[in-house]
Amino acid sequence: GGADIATPNRTKDIIRKHNFTFKKSLGQNFLVDKNILDKIVAAAGLTEAKGALEIGPGIGALTERLAREAGRVAAVEIDNRLIPILRDVLADYGNVSVVHADVLKTDLHRLWEEQFSGLEGVSVVANLPYYVTTPIIMKLLEEGLPLESIVVMVQKEVAERMAAKPGGKDYGTLSIAVQYYCEPELVCVVPSGAFIPAPNVDSAVIRLGRRAEPAVAVADEARFFRVVHAAFAQRRKTLGNNLAALAGKERKAELGELLRSIDIEPERRGETLSLQEFAALTEALSEAGM
Ligand code: SAM
Repeated sequence: GGADIATPNRTKDIIRKHNFTFKKSLGQNFLVDKNILDKIVAAAGLTEAKGALEIGPGIGALTERLAREAGRVAAVEIDNRLIPILRDVLADYGNVSVVHADVLKTDLHRLWEEQFSGLEGVSVVANLPYYVTTPIIMKLLEEGLPLESIVVMVQKEVAERMAAKPGGKDYGTLSIAVQYYCEPELVCVVPSGAFIPAPNVDSAVIRLGRRAEPAVAVADEARFFRVVHAAFAQRRKTLGNNLAALAGKERKAELGELLRSIDIEPERRGETLSLQEFAALTEALSEAGM
């Protein structure tokens, strides 16, 4: 109990009491701004009937807020030095499980069964460690977990890439993967002063609302993502040149015709194609055996 964790004074007290030293290599920047926490928690739309998975609870600034709003909270933390601190500061909350693990090596389907069965919905809510943001997001998206939304603090530049529309430099494989599964919505931009210690970059909170169905229908998801990756293999190259690597150089002329037949000029670059165009392209390449 006591005062909220997410204030500069309480955070400094906890750190001093436990002789904690920050590990930059683990992306440890702790939130000390209550208003930002309000926005994160509101974006997750939690209720007593819902669960929250937190990745990287740190000293519990966000965890405590989730515990007050959600029926059940599981918080996965890699740093063993933080486990006793979390058990201490969260002692009053009976609905929180602190799990000592690397989230990238955690069987999340099993965690779901153990922690969240019977709940109405579960969201991932986290201030992510920036050195592993993309692998964590990709794991959450690709594993087909029954999650309602992902509300995360990330580098501002990464949030912009997730939400980017076709045509700009921010649009790429991450935008397409995120938008295939989810609808992104920027919640707020966060200055570095909201953290102890302050990171070197601006941050942003983004909400990824899970779609009931993927944004486009494709017969073979793996192939769709192979085509997307090939299209962005060398950003300066045209689509025709990048895809030739996939189709085989000897079929380049044929590939050009195929692209034109679905109204995509081979001189365009991958970054101009919508998800719908990538889906049409995947089907056409598949039919042509490329
Ligand atoms: N949630 C806290 C807050 O907002 O104040 C801390 C956020 S801090 C940006 C990221 C946290 O993720 C740190 O506590 C760090 O130790 C933890 N972490 C880093 N890599 C991790 C991993 N692979 N699995 C689980 N936790 C990790």
